[in-house]
Amino acid sequence: METLYFSPMLLGLNLMLASAVACTGLWYFSRPYRGPGFWMAGAWTLILGILLFMGFMASGNPVLNVLGNATQLAGEAILLLGVFRFLGRRPPYWTVPASAGAMALVNSWHWFSAINSELLIAIYAAIGGALPLQACYVLLAERREPALRSARLFVGFTLLGYALVTLLRAGIGVHDWLQQVEHPDVTLSLSYLLPYNFGIPLWVIALVGLALMTMRRILEDSQRHAREAEANAHRFERLMGVANAGMLVVDDGRILDANPMLEQLFARRREELLGQPLARLVTEAEAPRLAELLLQADGRPHDIGACRGDGNGFPAELAIASLDNSHQRLVEIRDVSHRKALEQQLLHLATTDPLTGALNRRAFEERAEQELQRARRQHSPLCLALLDLDHFKQINDRHGHQVGDEVLRQFSQLCQRQARRTDLFARYGGEEFIFLLPDTNADAAHHLLERLRLALQSLEIATVDGHLRVSVSIGLASVSANDDLHRLQGVADAALYRAKQLGRNRIELAL
Ligand code: GH3
Ligand code: MG
Ligand code: MG
Repeated sequence: METLYFSPMLLGLNLMLASAVACTGLWYFSRPYRGPGFWMAGAWTLILGILLFMGFMASGNPVLNVLGNATQLAGEAILLLGVFRFLGRRPPYWTVPASAGAMALVNSWHWFSAINSELLIAIYAAIGGALPLQACYVLLAERREPALRSARLFVGFTLLGYALVTLLRAGIGVHDWLQQVEHPDVTLSLSYLLPYNFGIPLWVIALVGLALMTMRRILEDSQRHAREAEANAHRFERLMGVANAGMLVVDDGRILDANPMLEQLFARRREELLGQPLARLVTEAEAPRLAELLLQADGRPHDIGACRGDGNGFPAELAIASLDNSHQRLVEIRDVSHRKALEQQLLHLATTDPLTGALNRRAFEERAEQELQRARRQHSPLCLALLDLDHFKQINDRHGHQVGDEVLRQFSQLCQRQARRTDLFARYGGEEFIFLLPDTNADAAHHLLERLRLALQSLEIATVDGHLRVSVSIGLASVSANDDLHRLQGVADAALYRAKQLGRNRIELAL
């Protein structure tokens, strides 16, 4: 036991223990990098082997001797697998069972047939020295990741030194075996001292080299990430600068960043906007909807009423997308007043008659259908009137088409002036017009139309040929249960026909 206390083996064990702890730390702090896990596992397996061997020294149990030597070689092999893993190559896993198995066989043979112990040491050293050679080769031959080249060479040459020392030890063992040299005290043999004075220090330096190599890679990666992040930030900044929409980054509903276009759009300086709630950019009525859109962050365009710094509103299109999974949002705002005006213009063109400005027949029928349904639902009265200018053909014939057009325009204006806000008035075709009067019974409708008829009768229409008077015949129908628009029109038309028959310039109520 005392020989154990004072043997260099204990010192060697402690050194290996220190490097195993260091490898564990390296593994922990470098996760998820590949390689350090093997170095840690290999170092601890090696220590287990040394402990088993020390058990043999203390007890003389040959099983511990066999297990100790085999486990030490397995540990060395596992540790070396990490080099392959680190370099992104397929590790030669077979080296673990091959080296441990071969050693266990030779060692057992030693105990059964009492082969020379120098030969046993030589075989152990030959396996231990040959193991790192493959790893040395890949470390020295690797061409990728030039930034890691010096660290790779450092580890490669240190492992090569370790391999050469160990192989030298094997050579000495063979020599002693051939010369039949037996060392009664093994600590006096060169092959015993070589590993402690050179092998273990080189082993420790190699582990330090592995740590340096890992650190170099981590440093390289983080520098690359920093460069990429900087480039991304620059690109983002450029994008924000050139975008012709207002762009914002919003954090928890507050403005974190804004582009120059936004300043222009809202007539406010960036500094004023930063830190403000996004809701400041929309009208008060839109604030709840904005909060909902911020939550959804669906990336789709939504129409919203925006509000400038001076309090003026404008129609905007807003798209909100989520930035990562955080509370941050990327918001894009465009002024769509131009588009809205165009839409209005298109709607106007599609629904009105260009000559008179009254509703056209299609738009009238759409809206009249809704009014009719409402009247049916609410059981409210509703009237429909067809108006046809009398002897209009003659006006055209006598004064020309242009005068006819002017008469149509003036008549339409008069009707629109007489109409109430809820009434629908449309040009139905040629010189026929139509009125839909919601919430109006036949009496009230008759009264209103009579006023219109009298107003037209007394209207003097100015034309190039002097003043002109026209009259109108009107057929009036009042809605009854289950009337549809088509039927109601038919009824009013029949009444209009009667009005024409009975002498024109009059109102006839449908029977
Ligand atoms: P009645 O009293 O029976 O209604 O006689 P009318 O002459 O008014 O009836 P008719 O339906 O025979 O004539 C309608 C005329 O309206 C025929 C057509 O040339 C004219 N007209 C239709 N559309 C326009 C238009 O846009 N401009 C002008 N100037 N005339 C139109
Ligand atoms: Mg007509
Ligand atoms: Mg007519």
